[in-house]
Amino acid sequence: MSSQYDLELNKIRDLVQIKSYSKILIQMPEGMLDLPLKTLVEELSSLDTEVILSGDPSYGICDLAIDLGIRLNCDLLVHFGHTEFGFDNRFRSQTGKTLDVLLIPATVSINISSFTEQLANELKSLKWVKVGLVATAQHLNLITELNEFLLSKGFQPIIKGEGQILGCNLSNIRYDFDDIDGIIGLYAGNFHTHGIILSTTIPILQLDPYSGKMTIFGVKERNRLIKKRYSVIHKARKAQFWGILSSSKIGQYHPLQMKHAEKLLTQHNKSRISIIAENTNHQSLSNLTWIEAWVDTACPRLIDDQISYPVPILNFREFLYLFNEISWEELLKNGFL
Ligand code: SF4
Repeated sequence: MSSQYDLELNKIRDLVQIKSYSKILIQMPEGMLDLPLKTLVEELSSLDTEVILSGDPSYGICDLAIDLGIRLNCDLLVHFGHTEFGFDNRFRSQTGKTLDVLLIPATVSINISSFTEQLANELKSLKWVKVGLVATAQHLNLITELNEFLLSKGFQPIIKGEGQILGCNLSNIRYDFDDIDGIIGLYAGNFHTHGIILSTTIPILQLDPYSGKMTIFGVKERNRLIKKRYSVIHKARKAQFWGILSSSKIGQYHPLQMKHAEKLLTQHNKSRISIIAENTNHQSLSNLTWIEAWVDTACPRLIDDQISYPVPILNFREFLYLFNEISWEELLKNGFL
């Protein structure tokens, strides 16, 4: 598997030599930490640079280890697995200090030609002609290939921006995709599909680039997810004591949303406490048994698997709906994330 990821070692090596960095912090997503990284570490260490690997997994570009890098006196953070998409201005430490950051998307080399004909047949049977193409950072390299293939077969593929999506940033499908027949999503697993479902009414063909497996998600799945969200929002209506959740992760700290939540809860005579944590997950929240409902201003995907946590967690937009700041129609139109 290691040879599939493009770790762009030459790019890192060149930058380290040009800038004479003396201490480098490496940060990787969970799925990459188990790669055989000896070559990477040995190559960088041979440049007379101290190399430190963060043992904590990173879950997104929101999670850049800038404060850790500064605390360790590093002069470069090499962050694998993500691009700056959606988080351009957030690379500054919370102390105001800066650290050079090199983002390596770690794209994966996969031969998709074995299943593109099958995809064309599937699109024909669905009667989709105009299709939006999206992918996660690792698979952005496949979008151009897929785009050319679909054009050669008479389809009308559309790519907005580079076509990238994040679990919390679906801006590349939310706008300008009004008149398309469907979205083709290149990634493994349902996580990003669920994000798309909560952000648009357009049907999705999820294409797993590793296996070639194609899965269609349409009105049924959207209704099921929206029904679940409606029931959680409805349950939160009865809560008197609210937790306003934030994270100290660099891209998950939204003080303006926190302030707005405080104001709304005060106006509606609700009690509340602001809580900030490095990692916000159901397990850590479950210690705070006295909180009756949460408004989550950190990662909006904490609402996934809400079934494993009995207390309602609302995303900020859902919270605005509950307290009459936006309508249900607006929530459906512009998404729950
Ligand atoms: S905020 Fe959540 S969904 Fe967005 S990049 Fe971070 S971990 Fe992913």
